[in-house]
Amino acid sequence: MKYIICEQPGRLTLLEKENPIRGLNEALVKITRVGICGTDLHAFQGNQPFFSYPRILGHELAAEIIEIDDNEQGLEVGDRVIIMPYISCGTCIACKRGKTNCCESISVLGVHEDGGMQEYYTVSTDVLVKANSLSEEQIALVEPLAIGAHAISRAKPSNNETALVIGCGPIGLGLLKQMQLLGIHVIAMDIHSDRLVFAKDVMGIDQIVLADDNAETEIKRLNNGQLPTIVFDATGSKQALESGINFMAHGGTYVLVGLYKGDLTFNHPLLHSRESTLLSSRNATMADILQVKLMLESGLFPDAAFITHRVSFTEMIDHFESWIKPESGVIKAMVHL
Ligand SMILES: [Zn+2]
Ligand SMILES: [Zn+2]
Repeated sequence: MKYIICEQPGRLTLLEKENPIRGLNEALVKITRVGICGTDLHAFQGNQPFFSYPRILGHELAAEIIEIDDNEQGLEVGDRVIIMPYISCGTCIACKRGKTNCCESISVLGVHEDGGMQEYYTVSTDVLVKANSLSEEQIALVEPLAIGAHAISRAKPSNNETALVIGCGPIGLGLLKQMQLLGIHVIAMDIHSDRLVFAKDVMGIDQIVLADDNAETEIKRLNNGQLPTIVFDATGSKQALESGINFMAHGGTYVLVGLYKGDLTFNHPLLHSRESTLLSSRNATMADILQVKLMLESGLFPDAAFITHRVSFTEMIDHFESWIKPESGVIKAMVHL
């Protein structure tokens, strides 16, 4: 079978090996789609922390079951499945409190261990979710959308609140759309006007703000003269992360979804005067995955248009580097196997 491996930063190689053989409590699956995300691009560029090479990338996966034993979930050969890519220990304090997304010894498929950029893959049956109601592309979108679902579960917004999302990449857009579908007033902000146009035209997010010197005035204009009570950062940029708090109302909540790989500095009087609730949001839980599955089943998420680039498995290597550049206009690239 074919597989693509990231041998070292900047080098992806298409190789052949024997089909994997499943172990106890594992299923053999055929990978049908792989979504490409910022993590994969950062790993390719060599600036992903805690990453070792060589590594088979791919954690946004759609698969079909080829072999499986009798199991409690009722999974059968031929089922389309979501693969929950966060492998948690089940015994640490975070896991025991149900926070498997931030397990002390979490292992993410395609990051800490080999992922799904391969034709066949073996995976624990525990992390499979039957999803015959979804298309293969929808299944591969579940993981990135679950990041947004988890951030929403952290912030617990109510219907009379306004949420600002800074950063209109795939995570920010997923977050915006899911909150909008929950009836929450949302405002999108980005430094790139083309991403705001995408947010408005494709995702149906009507209130968009360019992150320039006039942004605060514009946000207030869109929100009855008030700042939003919830601000999400979905950029991972130091400058954006440090300034996001400026757009949050007194008594509000600031949720850090994007990850910056260094120190952040906040002005304490600014945080204190607003009695800010500062939250981080990492990965997602099984509950978030199931929530996103329901949301996609509703047909209200524009999944087809959200996927801006589609390539075959063998074409992927030639296109991969171009997705790093914003000019490519990529929101979500999808690899078809
Ligand atoms: Zn991802
Ligand atoms: Zn754990």
